[in-house]
Amino acid sequence: MLNCYSRSVLLAAGLSQILVACGGAPEGPRNVILVTLDTTRPDFFGCYGASGDLTPRLDALAQGGARFDMAISASAVTPVSHASILTGQLPYQHGLRVLAAPGGFRLPETVPTLASILGARGYTTAAIHSAFPVSRIYGFERGFDLFEDLSNVDLEQKQDGGQGWDVSRGQRRSDQTSDMAIRFLQDCDEPFFLWLHYWDPHDMVLTPDKEFMAGREPTSPADTMAFWREMYALEISYVDREFGRVLDALEEGGRDRDTLIAVISDHGEGLDDGERRHGWRAHRILYQEQVHVPLILAVPGGPRGLVVDSLVRSIDVFPTVLDYLDVAPPAGVEGLSLRPLLEGRKDAPRMAYADQINGWDANAGMVRHRPQADFLHMAMDDTYKLIYRPSFPDQSELYNYRRDPGEILDLFGREEFRATRVALLSDLAARAGWVLAPFQADGEPMSERDRAILQKLGYTGDGEAASEALWEWLCPADWTRHGDPGPCPRCGAACLPAAAGRQE
Ligand SMILES: [Zn+2]
Ligand SMILES: [Zn+2]
Repeated sequence: MLNCYSRSVLLAAGLSQILVACGGAPEGPRNVILVTLDTTRPDFFGCYGASGDLTPRLDALAQGGARFDMAISASAVTPVSHASILTGQLPYQHGLRVLAAPGGFRLPETVPTLASILGARGYTTAAIHSAFPVSRIYGFERGFDLFEDLSNVDLEQKQDGGQGWDVSRGQRRSDQTSDMAIRFLQDCDEPFFLWLHYWDPHDMVLTPDKEFMAGREPTSPADTMAFWREMYALEISYVDREFGRVLDALEEGGRDRDTLIAVISDHGEGLDDGERRHGWRAHRILYQEQVHVPLILAVPGGPRGLVVDSLVRSIDVFPTVLDYLDVAPPAGVEGLSLRPLLEGRKDAPRMAYADQINGWDANAGMVRHRPQADFLHMAMDDTYKLIYRPSFPDQSELYNYRRDPGEILDLFGREEFRATRVALLSDLAARAGWVLAPFQADGEPMSERDRAILQKLGYTGDGEAASEALWEWLCPADWTRHGDPGPCPRCGAACLPAAAGRQE
C-alpha cells in the first residue's frame, strides 16, 4: 500500500517521464544508430538529385535532418574506410591500411572506437553486418556486446601468389540484416549504440527478392555496364526499403525522438564514369566516384532540412556523435565535430586526405591492370583535389572538383595552378601517410611475393632498408629529388617519396 507521499513521488516521476516523451522539442540524443552503406554513391539518392524515386526513406531522413553535399571518405576500400568512420582517424593514424596482407589489416587494440568508448560508458553496443570486410577478422568486434558479423570466410590463393579473400563469400542481404536490427531494437536496453552495415550494391552475388524486382527488371543487355548500373541503382533502392523497416520499428517505439541517426557510405563505385581517364567500374582508386559519399545526420532537436555544402570528412562523424552525447573525444582524433555546421555557425575550412595502399594488398589484383594505382595519396581543400602517385609522380593529378565534378580536366602540369599544386603536395608531405616500412607480419616467414613487395618499397625482405633504395625524396616546391628522407636540401620543404628511376 502506498502512502500519499510515495504515491505523489511516483506520480511526479511518471508525469515527468511522460513530459519528456511527449512534450516539446527533445533535449538531445540518447541513442545512436550508425548506418554504413557499402559501395553507395550519393548521386543515386533522390535527395542528391537522382531521378526515379529510388530512395524515399533516406530522402525523408535527410529532409528531417541534415544532408552533407561534399562528404569525403578516407579510403575507397571497405575495412580501411570503416576504421576511419569508427575512430575519427585517418588510415595512417589508426593503422588499418589494407584488406589482405601479412600485416596492416587489423585495427590495433589501442585505438579507441565509438563502440569501445560508448561501451565503457554503459551503452548497449551492437553491430549487425552484411559482409566480412567489417568482421572480427579486422578487429572491429572490440567494444561490442553483440557482434553479428560474417567471418566464416577463408583466405584463398590469388593469381599473383598472395593470400587474399574471396569477396563473393560471407554476405547477408539487407532484408535479413534489417530483421536482425528490428529484433535488437525490440528488446535492447537503453542507451544503445547500433552499427548497421548494408552491402547489397557491392556486387550481384545477392540480389533483391523477386517481389521487389517484379516490374523493375533491368532493360539493358546482361553483362554490360548499363545493366550493372541499373542493378546497382535497384540494389541501393532495395537497401532504402529495407532500412526503412528499421526506421518504422524505431518510430513505433517512439525512439526516433531520442536517437541520433548517422548514414554514410564507406566509398562509392566507378561505374565507368569520368570518361577514358578514369575508366573504372569498381573502387580502390580516389576519384570522386569512389571517395565522395552520402552523409545524412538526423539529430533529435537538431536542424531539419539543412543542406551543408562545405567540404567535410568521414572522420568527422566520430567526434560529432561524441559531441552530441557530451563525451570528450580521445587524444589523436583528426576529425572535427560537425555540430557548428549543424547549428548554422561558421567553421574553419577542412582538408580531406585519403589513400590506397594497393601495392601491398593481395586483394588488389587491379594493380596488374592499373600499375599507376599501386599507391595513391589524395589531398583536398574546399575547391581543389590532388592525387599524388609516389611510383609515378609526374602522373599525379589536380582537379577543380567544384567546377569539374567529373574530374576530366587535369590541371596538374599547368603553371597557373602551381601555387595550388605546391600547397596540396606540401599538405601531403607534412603527413606520415607513406608506406615505406614493412607491416608487422606476426612472426610468419615472409613469402616470396611479400619479399618482392618490400624490395619494391626500398626494403630487403628482413625489414632492413636496401642498400640501393628504390625511393628518392621529391621536393613539392622545386620538384627536385634527393636520396635521404628529410627536408629539401635547397629550400627546406618537407618532401614526398618518389620511386627512383622513373624520372619522366
Ligand atoms: Zn566497401
Ligand atoms: Zn625544395
